[in-house]
Amino acid sequence: MAIIGAAMVPHPPLIVPAVGRGGERQIEQTTKAYEKVARQIAEWKPETVVIISPHSVMYQDYIHISPGAGARGDFGRFGAPGARYEVAYDHELTAEITELAQDMDLAAGTAGERNPALDHGFLVPLHFLKQAMGFPWPCRFVRIGLSGLPFKTHYRLGMTIKEAAERLSRRVCVVASGDLSHYVKADGPYGFRAEGPEYDKKIMDVMGRAAFDELLKMPENFCEKAGECGQRSFLIMAGAFDGQQVEAEMLSYQGVTGVGYGLGLFTPSGPDKSRHFID
Ligand SMILES: [Zn+2]
Repeated sequence: MAIIGAAMVPHPPLIVPAVGRGGERQIEQTTKAYEKVARQIAEWKPETVVIISPHSVMYQDYIHISPGAGARGDFGRFGAPGARYEVAYDHELTAEITELAQDMDLAAGTAGERNPALDHGFLVPLHFLKQAMGFPWPCRFVRIGLSGLPFKTHYRLGMTIKEAAERLSRRVCVVASGDLSHYVKADGPYGFRAEGPEYDKKIMDVMGRAAFDELLKMPENFCEKAGECGQRSFLIMAGAFDGQQVEAEMLSYQGVTGVGYGLGLFTPSGPDKSRHFID
C-alpha cells in the first residue's frame, strides 16, 4: 500500500492560538475536528506527508512543487513570528512525482521557486500535526502548490503522487489544505454571495460521498464565483485515489467567520476499476 490515507482541512491562521489570541474560540468545533484528523494521521504512521497548499508559489500555467532538503516558516505575517516551524522534504518522492509529471506531459515540477518560506496553507496543518506527532518529526514532507490550469490537470498530478509512492514503497498521507467559500456571511470580511453557501453545501456532500467524478465536473466558473480556495487542492488529493474505492468521513463544517471550513478523512479500501475518472 502506498497512499494510506488523506484529509481535507482548512487553514485559518486564527486557529493557531498565538495568532487568534482568543479569537480561535469561535471555531472550536473546527479545532476539535482538526485535532482528530491530526491524531488519525499520526496513527497511520506515514513516512511522508504530502501537503497541498493553495498559498505556496503559484503560477497560472505551472504547478510548483517545493525543491530542496527542507524549509522553514512562521506566522509573522499574522502577528505571531514566534510560531515557527521547520520541516525536511522527502526529495526522493518530490523527484519521482516530478519525473512522472513530465512523462504525463503535465506542467508541474520544482522550477521557479520564488520564495522557499512555508506558507500558511502549509503551516496550519503543520501546527496540528506537530501536536499529534511530536518533534523532531517522525516523517518527512512534500509541498505542492496549485495553478490556474484546469481541474483535470490537478487530478492527474494527484495520480502521479500515488504512482510515485508505489514506486518508492512509501507510506504516504495526503493533506489537501483548502478553505471553502469566502462569501458565506453578509457580515464576514468578504461579504455574501448566494454561490457561497451553495458551494459549501455541494462540496461537503461530494466529498462526503468521495464522489470525485462529480468533483471533477463542478463548473469552474461556479467555483470561482463562490470564491473557493481549496477546490484544486481537493482535486489533487482525489487523483491520489484514482482507481480506488474510498471511505470518506466528514468531521465538521463551520462558516461562522464568513469563510467555510470543512474537514474530512479519506481511506482507500481496495481497487475499483469504475473509479478511474480520467481517460
Ligand atoms: Zn486559502
